[in-house]
Amino acid sequence: MLKQNLDEVERRISEACKRAGRKREEVTLIAVSKTKPLEAVEEVLNLGILEFGENKVQELVDKYERIKSPVHWHMIGHLQTNKVKYIVDKVKLIHSVDSLKLANQIQKEAEKKQVVVDVLVEVNIAGEETKFGVTREETLPLIEEIAKLPNVHVCGLMTSAPFVENPEEDRIYFRQLHQLFVDISQKNIDNIDMKILSMGMTNDFEVAIEEGSTMVRIGTAIFGARKYKVEGEA
Ligand SMILES: *Cc1c(COP(=O)(O)O)cnc(C)c1O
Repeated sequence: MLKQNLDEVERRISEACKRAGRKREEVTLIAVSKTKPLEAVEEVLNLGILEFGENKVQELVDKYERIKSPVHWHMIGHLQTNKVKYIVDKVKLIHSVDSLKLANQIQKEAEKKQVVVDVLVEVNIAGEETKFGVTREETLPLIEEIAKLPNVHVCGLMTSAPFVENPEEDRIYFRQLHQLFVDISQKNIDNIDMKILSMGMTNDFEVAIEEGSTMVRIGTAIFGARKYKVEGEA
């Protein structure tokens, strides 16, 4: 069942790459396993996927400790400064850095554990009130400040586009973020490597790939719909 889902996602990624004249290897698939049980992660792991995304610190740490294989964990959700210490030495990449305060905290904890942490700066490209992330204008100034932190390594940008019925409506935002990515990359800032553009989810990953995404974060299309507990229910 998960194999079929994964095969179908793979097929769609390949098709989108082909349409865009890009190589399949240019796009990394992150399987977003949030709310899903360990068995589902292990099933997908056995199908050859190594990159997994979680959006909550507690759940990430829990899965990290219980899965013995060397999984690459991606923190894709909003990260509170007081929780940085639990994950700095456990994650492959933090996608959601959206303030200097958070970057400073990552620096502090990374220095303690003597690691360098790869991060992306999260951009709220459509300026949605409900979303985390910096504005387009704030992105470069923030990156210039993070560049001074020796244990924090900016590898690119991340966004979550608005939820829309027709993913074509988000093409403009993916295009804008890609342009920002290219503009910042051309500044050749020390300690900044603009090589990862994390955009595209179940609903819109094909358009994101066509617009230059190098990392797609896909949950529902691989694991099926998520069930969230309703407050008050057992
Ligand atoms: C949940 C989540 C995803 C995956 O969403 P799907 O629509 O299930 O593919 C991707 N990115 C972030 C930041 C998420 O929180």
